[in-house]
Amino acid sequence: GRTLRVVLGDQLTRGLASLADLDPAADTVLLAEVMGECTYVPHHPKKIALVLSAMRHFAAALEAEGVRVRYIRLDDPANTGTLAGEVARAAEALAPAAIVVTEPGEWRVLEDMRSWERLAGIPVEIREDRRFLCSRAEFAAWAQGRKTLRMEFFYREMRRRTGLLMEGGEPVGGAWNFDAENRKPLPRGLTIPKPPRFAPDAVTAEVLDLVARLFPANFGTLEGFSFPVTSAEAEAALGAFLRDRLPSFGDYQDAMATGEPVLFHSLISTSLNLGLLDPLKVCRRAEAEWRAGRAPLNAVEGFIRQIIGWREYVRGLYWLKMPGYAALNALGADRALPEFYWTGDSGMACIDAVVRQTRDEAYAHHIQRLMVTGNFALIAGIDPGAVNEWYLSVYADAFEWVELPNTHGMALHADGGIMASKPYAASGKYIDRMSDYCRTCRHDVKETTGPNACPFNALYWDFLARHRQRFEANPRMAQMYRTMDRMGPAKLVAIRARAAAFLDRVAPRLKDRAA
Ligand code: FAD
Ligand code: SF4
Repeated sequence: GRTLRVVLGDQLTRGLASLADLDPAADTVLLAEVMGECTYVPHHPKKIALVLSAMRHFAAALEAEGVRVRYIRLDDPANTGTLAGEVARAAEALAPAAIVVTEPGEWRVLEDMRSWERLAGIPVEIREDRRFLCSRAEFAAWAQGRKTLRMEFFYREMRRRTGLLMEGGEPVGGAWNFDAENRKPLPRGLTIPKPPRFAPDAVTAEVLDLVARLFPANFGTLEGFSFPVTSAEAEAALGAFLRDRLPSFGDYQDAMATGEPVLFHSLISTSLNLGLLDPLKVCRRAEAEWRAGRAPLNAVEGFIRQIIGWREYVRGLYWLKMPGYAALNALGADRALPEFYWTGDSGMACIDAVVRQTRDEAYAHHIQRLMVTGNFALIAGIDPGAVNEWYLSVYADAFEWVELPNTHGMALHADGGIMASKPYAASGKYIDRMSDYCRTCRHDVKETTGPNACPFNALYWDFLARHRQRFEANPRMAQMYRTMDRMGPAKLVAIRARAAAFLDRVAPRLKDRAA
């Protein structure tokens, strides 16, 4: 019979499970731009524009192929504003025998999808998302009975399973992981290749106007929109990365520099998450660069680990632990998100550089997210719910399945260590080593107390002192507690007083604020 095939905004792949047996003579594909999806958090305008433009381009490609598409625009007067509403409306208009859809990335949407059958009055088949290398069931089987769910062990399984960078059952180069080689600061004077930009075409231009009109107050600028919005553009972006930046990706993976938002990163997360690129194909192409001698192993291994390791791992963990995962707050963090996460005027050069770049580009690379804004929120004890909402809003690649474990688990340790064996807490010293931010900062990174002291320093010691019971037995943190004890009690009291005064000013406790 005739089937309604629903495609979500982050499922823009012709090979999608729900399109596999598409019959162009009988079936209709539904793509709907709905207000609910545009407003569940106050998304960055560039993120909304990216998703809508990519949806419109994907629909046009299907139509060019002769597929019947029911495309509902955001400003269509009949638009009900929700996915469920649009599915019900399409079912009524087209009277299909069944609905076929691919499982969504997010818990919230799956819950909603379970109501479609009742609303539409016809069977709804939810298919597994084969764009991931590890299914939810396979991840659950891997996790079963393990004491800890460390990414590294999962990653090795994925290397074996895909055969990527393997020879005769062994990892090439004699080790699974070359991260120790991937922590170099950026040398002065290094030329950094510019990534290609994709100028808006007529479709994107129309979307940009729409978004400017409907979301004028959201954090973030629309100017300079240049994300790939089709699979052809995404392929071009990938090609440029493999050629120009992959060879140095490993060396400078953890480096940060003023005015250089991308460095040697790939900028492919939006394309992977929307379905414009296939993760396994991306990894095979990176592997080919190593086999051809054009990129070193530490770069290629590091890059592939992010995709078949981290990306698959966080998705598996998300589905394994939801819905409870979102509510965890193991460290009892209870302070408000500082206003400067939206304004970029904290006076801390590192934070302001990352927030302003985020506002302009809807992008920050991993170490900026983890060690600047993430680390600050961790050591300041910011409420995880507020931090999650920020990350989910401000990055163009942010979808809850990948954003939540990274924020909650990796950056904030709110999951109590399911994801990371120790919190990624760091003082200003780390930021100074990995960036040039401190050189232009009004704070002194070498000072801990005193009027110009770098706030990260006092916050760092305060964090360790606050959570001493939880962390002092951790062998990877013992050294820091010994250093703290050598300070003597008077110094620690002064540091903690400074941290408290600073926090009460920029990030009051939520209960005090409410009162
Ligand atoms: P590259 O550094 O070039 O890495 C290549 C690819 O590997 C990325 O495109 C991405 O698909 C994948 N990858 C790398 N690190 C991770 C990771 N930790 N988890 C999952 N995939 C990874 N990534 C998102 O896609 N969406 C998010 O909402 C998101 N939120 C994050 C929040 C925090 C607090 C942190 C610390 C990280 C977050 N990440 C998120 C992971 C990572 O920072 C981004 O994937 C990366 O910065 C995207 O830029 P890129 O494509 O240039 O990545
Ligand atoms: Fe950031 Fe401190 Fe360095 Fe300033 S001195 S840039 S606040 S780490």
